Amino acid sequence: MTDDLSHFRTCPLCEATCGLELTVRDDAVVRIRGDRDDVFSKGFICPKGSVLHRLHEDPDRLRKPQIRRGDPDDGDAWDEVEWDEAFAHIEDRLVPLLETHGSTSGALYLGNPGVHNHAALVTAPLLMHALGTRSLYTASTVDQMPKHVSSGFLFGSPNTIPVPDIDRTDFLVMLGANPLESNGSLATAPDFPGRLAALKERGGRLVVVDPMRTKTADLADQHLAIRPGTDAHLLLALLHVVLTDPGPDLGHLDGHVSGIDELSAAVAPFSPEAMGPLCGIDAGTIRGLAADIATARSAAVYGRIGTHTVPFGTLASWAVDVLALVTGNLDSPGGNMFPLPAHGAPESAAPGGRGWVTGRWHSRVDGYPEVKSEFPVVALADEITTPGDDRTRVLVTVGGNPARSTPNSERLEAALAELDFMVSIDLYRNETTRFADVILPPPSPLERSHYDAAFYGLAVRNVANFSDTLFDVDGPSEEQIVARLASVLTASGASAAETLAFVLEMEVAKEVARATSPIAGREPAEILPLLSGETVPDKIIDLRLRVGPYGDGFGAHPGGVSIAALRRAEHGIDFGPLAPRLPNALRTASGTVELLVDPIVADLGRLEATLTEPEWTRSDGLRLIGRRTLRSNNSWMHNVRQLVKGKPRCTLQIHPDDAARRDLTDGADAVVTSRVGHLTAAVEITDRVARGVVSLPHGWGHGAPGSAMPVAAAHAGVNANTLTDHTAIDPLSGNAVLNGVPVEVAALAMS
Ligand code: SF4
Repeated sequence: MTDDLSHFRTCPLCEATCGLELTVRDDAVVRIRGDRDDVFSKGFICPKGSVLHRLHEDPDRLRKPQIRRGDPDDGDAWDEVEWDEAFAHIEDRLVPLLETHGSTSGALYLGNPGVHNHAALVTAPLLMHALGTRSLYTASTVDQMPKHVSSGFLFGSPNTIPVPDIDRTDFLVMLGANPLESNGSLATAPDFPGRLAALKERGGRLVVVDPMRTKTADLADQHLAIRPGTDAHLLLALLHVVLTDPGPDLGHLDGHVSGIDELSAAVAPFSPEAMGPLCGIDAGTIRGLAADIATARSAAVYGRIGTHTVPFGTLASWAVDVLALVTGNLDSPGGNMFPLPAHGAPESAAPGGRGWVTGRWHSRVDGYPEVKSEFPVVALADEITTPGDDRTRVLVTVGGNPARSTPNSERLEAALAELDFMVSIDLYRNETTRFADVILPPPSPLERSHYDAAFYGLAVRNVANFSDTLFDVDGPSEEQIVARLASVLTASGASAAETLAFVLEMEVAKEVARATSPIAGREPAEILPLLSGETVPDKIIDLRLRVGPYGDGFGAHPGGVSIAALRRAEHGIDFGPLAPRLPNALRTASGTVELLVDPIVADLGRLEATLTEPEWTRSDGLRLIGRRTLRSNNSWMHNVRQLVKGKPRCTLQIHPDDAARRDLTDGADAVVTSRVGHLTAAVEITDRVARGVVSLPHGWGHGAPGSAMPVAAAHAGVNANTLTDHTAIDPLSGNAVLNGVPVEVAALAMS
């Protein structure tokens, strides 16, 4: 037996980026607890983080490539093979298909786990380039794409996203978010519960707007049970009030905003009296909330998934930031502020850029505009099944489970069965990857290094942490898998190492060519040997850190950050609270915050039309919403026994009055029917959901034939996306509508 060793690493499972302390004995993790010295999370941990090693140890996790020799429903149709055989099979089958049908017949789907993995993030463009297609789909269009679009329009970049400065605010308004269960999203804030408690302790106020009285709402000074899908209506009404009285207060952004004079007229139709009946919130309450935001010493407005996965997701996202702007809270301490991540570009000397647009090309069948070079994932099934030139015949997936996470997922499953060839890079044979012809398993989270490249850009403090690999992997790394696949797809004949070396050289060449870089004009050959890190993704992060806002500039700023510096600081480095970044961070063509670009103006017209549309004005019927639970993270932790044991969590929650009207009893089964499908779910009667609302969590519905996640199958639950409608989207972002879905519920007839 060896002595216990402590290993510190950042939890890669959700956006909170908690520091973990892993105790390792005899090459096994025997305990995980929160790292009390982590500069950001200070010891916080949730149940998922404490069983991270169970994912690594899971006997059902794939360790070797799998080739399917039969029907996707046949669990015995799979052969475990060596890596060379898997790639040879791909070369034999996939490459001729692309040669025959053209590169436009290929598509790529990137799932949610990849965004928590810097190796996947930095190699995704390589895969896209190798496929040579514009058919890119990601989990963003069942999640946060509206926020990217509103940021692109307002600030000129889809990734310039303000986050609530929750550690300093006096007044936090939270819409469609339940961080006590989800630990926060688009606001990286480990120990969100503790930060909310601190807000209350310093005399701050919390208002939660949510159709459910969630655990977060339990902490609130005020809970507004809004009708699902009407957050944009409420936010526009708040804007209407603020712009009328007291009028806009732009604070230090005065002179840096376009469209402010036209804004009052644009929101004129949206009075609290007009919008209140649609939202289910009376006009007086809306006026009171508007006054509270406008008069608070500081106020932050935070909208999350419940405001994004709705028909006016982009407009709601836009209104969140505009409300902060006109109350003097945008880019101001205690308001909505912009992180400056260590691996990001340093602040520019002046605002301005090329601006940002969508719709540079459109999807073949449904004509959806691209957004951030992506098509909405709701378009994928039609692209596979509709005959014609450029029909999608080949699909590569990296992580994710779109057969459970996308609307009308049964329709997508039927489409996946029609593909000519599919390759999945995934840890499991799940409801999606059972359709793959080849599954290539990447390392577990403990078999790779970790840097949270996506989420430090959304953090409520500027921090950075780097985690080294804990266990050696018996096989290729994720970037080596991607590089080898790219090499097969392009018939380049290059080895994975050569391909990755080329990627790194290109990154360095790009950086030395950037005029404002601290290494501008230097020779790539001089820089390359200076990069530290075990892998090419690590070296790319090292490059970005060193030329970033706190970097050492390769000698220009001694003592600055690098991978080496982060390795020495095993509990992370704190660069301090968020600081104002506007106007210089603006990348709009005008160099100002652009409030009323044409797509927003048009969408305000669409919102105004709802004032008389029966679909919006009627208050009868039931609307389905999702919900999060602390022990679940989409579908990808459901094979970990410690997280799924106990009381079933995949229940249909319904208000007692709605249950009584339908003769439903607690624990009995009910049939839920929508326009596109139906399912049977166990009823949980609770007054936590408002009248007229029912709730099912997403990511469940396991045990599909051919999948190989037995623990998940034993706790299967039902697939909420059997009910969601693939034709219902937010048109500006292409984001799916997953909340506020009209449904009917009836007791299951006993035969
Ligand atoms: S809150 Fe998120 S990051 Fe923190 S331990 Fe839990 S899963 Fe990991």
